[in-house]
Amino acid sequence: MLTRRRARHEKRLRAICATQLQGMDFPKPFDIDVFLQRLSAHRGRPLHVHELPDLGGAGAPCGLWLAFDHEDHLFHPRGLSRRHRAQVLKHEATHILLGHRTSMDIKAFVDLLPDGIDPVAAEQAFGRTSYETDQERDAELAASFLDELIEELSADPYAAGQDDVLARLDDALGHPVKDRRS
Ligand SMILES: [Zn+2]
Repeated sequence: MLTRRRARHEKRLRAICATQLQGMDFPKPFDIDVFLQRLSAHRGRPLHVHELPDLGGAGAPCGLWLAFDHEDHLFHPRGLSRRHRAQVLKHEATHILLGHRTSMDIKAFVDLLPDGIDPVAAEQAFGRTSYETDQERDAELAASFLDELIEELSADPYAAGQDDVLARLDDALGHPVKDRRS
């Protein structure tokens, strides 16, 4: 059931994503790799996409985001369909947009990697199953409305920004903006 509280939460997530995406030129038709390249340029941080090796087992991760001081690395499992791969990467991209952080001490983690990034070690350290945390739920939710949000921003780059302001006002005032008189 989409409760009022949940609707407000989704609105807030949309506003955060919209702010992060504002001013970006989106690929038409949408292409996840081009989108990630442009997001990387927009953020001024190199972003690399890698395949995770086939690890087997039921606990295989959906995907992975490693944020280092100056660059981002996204991982997706090997052998996914084009569509599924895009879904996984979109989910990881929303972690970036929402400013999520892993609780892992990244410096300690890097010490485990003798030759740059070892995806197996990365999976063991960061592997997780979906929906376990609030961050996972938020990322899933944001991934579900990302296409729509990108379409809105493509059509009117300022629309979502206004929404952002209204969402903040709404939060601050604690009642629906639409009921206010201008
Ligand atoms: Zn996730």
